[in-house]
Amino acid sequence: MEIASLRGRVESLIHVHSRDYVPDILKSGFSCARCGWCCRENFSIRITEDILRPSNAISIFPDDIRRIMKGTGMKWDEAAQPDIYSCLSDGDKIYAIGWLLRRNDAKECVFYMDGACTIYEFRPMICRCYPFFMGERGVEVMHCEGLGKEMAGERAEEIARMLKRFEMKKLRSYINIMAQLGDKLSFANLRALPRGYEGEVIVCDGEGISWRRL
Ligand code: SF4
Ligand code: SF4
Repeated sequence: MEIASLRGRVESLIHVHSRDYVPDILKSGFSCARCGWCCRENFSIRITEDILRPSNAISIFPDDIRRIMKGTGMKWDEAAQPDIYSCLSDGDKIYAIGWLLRRNDAKECVFYMDGACTIYEFRPMICRCYPFFMGERGVEVMHCEGLGKEMAGERAEEIARMLKRFEMKKLRSYINIMAQLGDKLSFANLRALPRGYEGEVIVCDGEGISWRRL
């Protein structure tokens, strides 16, 4: 996708009122059952022939990481890890596109403990929007154990506002990442890191560039 087209989407989204999303959200009857399904690995999504992305490989913004750090006292790398499922190779360099919520050895989000989110107040924007996301045809609903229930209008409005903020932030972040990576950012350059990869990864997150040794 071109930067100009993403800018066009940002421009048109600015003029959409989040209340337009409310009917679809209300219709879903969402009320979180706190089952943790979305925090655990349930399936994988095939991105390319050699990239299988776990369902709970959750992309987060630098702002999300800073909020978690402020709320918990954790360090950046305790909360987040480079997105090892979205990497590009360029000669002998490996670039990771952004950050994931860190996952533990049980393949769960590190903040999921005893059946609950331990950072509920500080959780990332994407978790606040789940199970909703903006698709080609508007609001779409992902798998969730908390659908088909009573839902208050205020709660639907709150999620609608978050969904719009999230979508704007995501598009602006893509634009910045595209500017950072230039020609290197192409589907053909996407790579999965080999199992047990040990080496340096350059993380481009739309804000800055970080180096991490895996
Ligand atoms: S799957 Fe749905 S009900 Fe379960 S924790 Fe996630 S958002 Fe809540
Ligand atoms: S931050 Fe909380 S809600 Fe989000 S995936 Fe982790 S445990 Fe689940």
